[in-house]
Amino acid sequence: MALLLNDLRVLSRGTYLQYITRIRLLDDAIIRSNEPEEVLTYTYKNNDLGNRFIIPWRKVKGKVRRTAMEKMRGLGIAPDCHLKEGLCMRCPCCVLFGGTGDVSAAKVGYNLLSRVLGDTFISTECVATINSYTANAVDEKSLMTGQALMTLVKAPAETEFVGVVTLRDPTKESAAIVRDALLRLTRVGASTREWGRCQTTIEGYSLSDQEETSSYELAGKPLPSLNADSDLQLPTADEAFKSFAKQCETMVQEFAGAKKSGAKKEVKDRKKTAPEESEG
Ligand SMILES: [Zn+2]
Repeated sequence: MALLLNDLRVLSRGTYLQYITRIRLLDDAIIRSNEPEEVLTYTYKNNDLGNRFIIPWRKVKGKVRRTAMEKMRGLGIAPDCHLKEGLCMRCPCCVLFGGTGDVSAAKVGYNLLSRVLGDTFISTECVATINSYTANAVDEKSLMTGQALMTLVKAPAETEFVGVVTLRDPTKESAAIVRDALLRLTRVGASTREWGRCQTTIEGYSLSDQEETSSYELAGKPLPSLNADSDLQLPTADEAFKSFAKQCETMVQEFAGAKKSGAKKEVKDRKKTAPEESEG
């Protein structure tokens, strides 16, 4: 069995920690079916999963990153790192969730690949009947209705989703940070007005030299017996953030130094950062 790594390095060493994660809706959630960003229903045709509610990974990731950044800021680490105003490209959240250097606040000559990878979250039960109704879409700028029709779908309270969240090259610290951020996920979706509360739990983990499982594999059947995440004996999130922040500084300094000579400077006007994530 693979072990958590002892230190943080630039290059991947082929260890994968997978958290098998369950999101349970505590309230009904409303889905706008004509917006691809939202939670959707999806029909899996080639197996017995059938029609399911799904939450795209980028939605979950956006939210998890946001909660991790709030926690980090609360500890006084990288208070100026923001998803909208620009990433700092050196803090624990940038190192874990990634960022594009030339459009970051720091304008650095390197990119950070995300170390947190995920799957689509899939509802554990088939969607038997879809409760939908059509409403006039409201143009958010003018607040005028009647511009377009949209279909609203309700994902009922108690709906449960299973998803696998994978951390590449996990250390005790990074594993603790990702675990803490996942457990802080209490609302998902684009708009907290339209989304009910949810409860997020980690059902277990796998630690291996490869990715062992996927949401797709787990959604259709009862979860297998899993190692409890308490077995990992992780530090508290506070301890983990403080110690990981120092490791990130050191790694980024090395990385930036090594890249400086060969880095091609390309200045772009775009202020966008972390483009693969949508605002949660
Ligand atoms: Zn940052």
